Amino acid sequence: MKAMKIFYDLNGALYANITNKCPCNCTFCIRHNDETVGENDSLWLEHEPTVEEIMDAFDEVDASKYDEVVFCGFGEPMERPWELIEAAEYIKRRTGMKIRINTNGLVSLMHPTFDLYSMRGVIDSVSISLNASDPEKYLEITKSRFGLPSYNSMLNFAIITHSFIPDVKLTVVDVIGEEEVEKCRRRAADIGVPLRVRAYISNNREYD
Ligand code: SF4
Repeated sequence: MKAMKIFYDLNGALYANITNKCPCNCTFCIRHNDETVGENDSLWLEHEPTVEEIMDAFDEVDASKYDEVVFCGFGEPMERPWELIEAAEYIKRRTGMKIRINTNGLVSLMHPTFDLYSMRGVIDSVSISLNASDPEKYLEITKSRFGLPSYNSMLNFAIITHSFIPDVKLTVVDVIGEEEVEKCRRRAADIGVPLRVRAYISNNREYD
């Protein structure tokens, strides 16, 4: 049986892939476009790895080559927030590495009982896909199964995490056009969270 690719190197950064699940179906998602990244192995996990499997896989990594682990899977990493926090605590305890999460910011809809403040002291940075300047456009892009409330939930996640995590950013890709990027800038400024405008790369959506 082929080993599961939980940790992988892409352009010199270390990524962690802990789930196939996601409540969205974004038009530009790597899941539609290409099943491969990095070394051309599929990131599709043959099962959702346990925390022990994640920790064992991390033990196989030459961690000395990296200073940060980015949870950014083939699916949405915050689909498994408790497992993510436990694995991140292990990595931090063992190596002192920084921990980043690239997320859609919908954890409070996916898992309403998850305590956002359990990220404190474990997660160093969070990159949240803003995607659009209003709930309707957001839903058009993400097709979130939670519908229109998704947008405000994502913004609330950004506001709350920004209050206690050192580095929290919203991101948009530049393909949405200059006018929409400008509106996104205003939206991010409204809630006081920095915005990063990223160049769109077809099979590389969240991997930076
Ligand atoms: S939230 Fe991320 S993983 Fe989920 S469909 Fe959108 S781009 Fe893909």
